[in-house]
Amino acid sequence: MVETVQTVVVGAGIWGLACGRQLLKQIPRDSLLILDCQERAGGKLNTISSAGFRFETAANGFLDSNPATLNLCRELGLASSLVRASGTASRNRFVYLRGKLHKLPSNLWGALTTRLLSWNARWRIATERFRSPAIPSYDESISEFGRRRLGPELTDTLLNAFVTGIWGGDAEKLSLRSCFPKWHEWESRYGSLTGGIVARRKERITAARLRGEQPPGPPQMWSLSGGLNELMAAMSRECVDRLRLNAAVAEIRFHGHRVPKWDVVLDNGRIIQAENVVMANPPDKQAAIVNRLDDELSAEITQIPSNSISVVVLGFETQRLPEGLDGFGYLAPYRDGRPVLGVQWCSEIFPGLRAPQGKSIWRALVRGGGQFESGVGESFLIQSVMSELRLVLGIKAEPVFNSVIHWPRAIPQYVVGHAERVRRISTITARWPGLFLGGSGYQGVAINDCVEQAQLLAQKIACSPHH
Ligand SMILES: Cc1cc2nc3c(=O)[nH]c(=O)nc-3n(C[C@H](O)[C@H](O)[C@H](O)COP(=O)(O)OP(=O)(O)OC[C@H]3O[C@@H](n4cnc5c(N)ncnc54)[C@H](O)[C@@H]3O)c2cc1C
Repeated sequence: MVETVQTVVVGAGIWGLACGRQLLKQIPRDSLLILDCQERAGGKLNTISSAGFRFETAANGFLDSNPATLNLCRELGLASSLVRASGTASRNRFVYLRGKLHKLPSNLWGALTTRLLSWNARWRIATERFRSPAIPSYDESISEFGRRRLGPELTDTLLNAFVTGIWGGDAEKLSLRSCFPKWHEWESRYGSLTGGIVARRKERITAARLRGEQPPGPPQMWSLSGGLNELMAAMSRECVDRLRLNAAVAEIRFHGHRVPKWDVVLDNGRIIQAENVVMANPPDKQAAIVNRLDDELSAEITQIPSNSISVVVLGFETQRLPEGLDGFGYLAPYRDGRPVLGVQWCSEIFPGLRAPQGKSIWRALVRGGGQFESGVGESFLIQSVMSELRLVLGIKAEPVFNSVIHWPRAIPQYVVGHAERVRRISTITARWPGLFLGGSGYQGVAINDCVEQAQLLAQKIACSPHH
């Protein structure tokens, strides 16, 4: 017998669950199904507990610069579990440059005074506000934007490291407008990046005063005491009767008459009929699902690349680590070509919550491709990270715990031309009533972006005539 619902969401990662949960607030419960091919909901976000350590498989936390995830946690009754990164983690972030670890400036003033940059580079920052904008009409790469506004030195060091920390990718290839739309907006609106930063800060202070709150500091990272899986588990519980696990979607077929009708075909041949299909799985999986429906759409989605990352988790005896490693961790600019893109000192970020007494846990994010592509033994990967840690931090201790998670397609890369591609994809998708493409492949990869975009789409669907 063919099962019929009004809306099917494909994928129960943060995007699919946030969308499904929002829909359930507005539509009858039995009109929704959320399908996931795995035996667990949550997608990339998961927290693993082993040998007294607790670590994340993908994101380590989310920022409060956008309140979407904080609000979601509070709505789910998780307010008492919310934890903010420690003060030292917020203050002390490092970058590995020219064979040495340097403390990163935490604000504009810090960038103007840091010894990490030459006088010339600091002068470029100080005078950026007075450089008239000649905003190119084409889609600029982040590096091109950086060189135009801030000069080559800052672009190749701090900006490159910053982009590495968020996108794990190449600033020469990534699009400014798609990866940092605010920066593009600030330049258009305020005439400069630093002008935008200052204006935005003033706006936030005024808004806080009006609410009778303290002026906000720089954005902070947050998580939950039990890790991000607490969030995923709470959302799964809310959707439990509408969630179907081990349900891999192989194909979707359209039967449009007066109202759209979709056949969502599972890989075991079972069919679920729906009026709306929301794809909240990664772009490559979406491309495969729509391949027989619309090869033009599939070809466009296939063009959205993703990087490949291995997360190498290492536990140490704290007393065997060098003194003074207090803080968030360090980044290595992508352009330097080092295998390790960054190391997060997780037990320093969330003290007392990620490692047993007397132990520390770190995560190294290792770039994929070449030597680290799948097939490489885990022990080789761990040894490579250890050699890097010996070189960068002078670590002598051997790890007492390790775990490796490979993400062959980790983070979608919004390369130059991404916005134009997304527009073409939207135009093609509009030919298919009731089909909606979501997930982190289009309008933001951060957890906050996923939650915000998913909730917006859910509201749009709930208000559509087919609900
Ligand atoms: C190493 C790493 C570090 C990160 N660090 C941060 C960070 O610190 N802060 C931050 O904000 N973000 C971070 N991110 C980004 C963030 O974690 C992701 O962008 C986000 O989790 C993606 O969620 P999603 O729901 O779009 O996709 P996913 O989590 O990939 O979920 C997609 C779901 O679709 C399912 N699926 C796939 N194909 C099918 C099919 N055919 N049928 C049914 N189901 C299917 C999958 O099983 C999966 O559950 C990081 C990402 C990585 C990889």
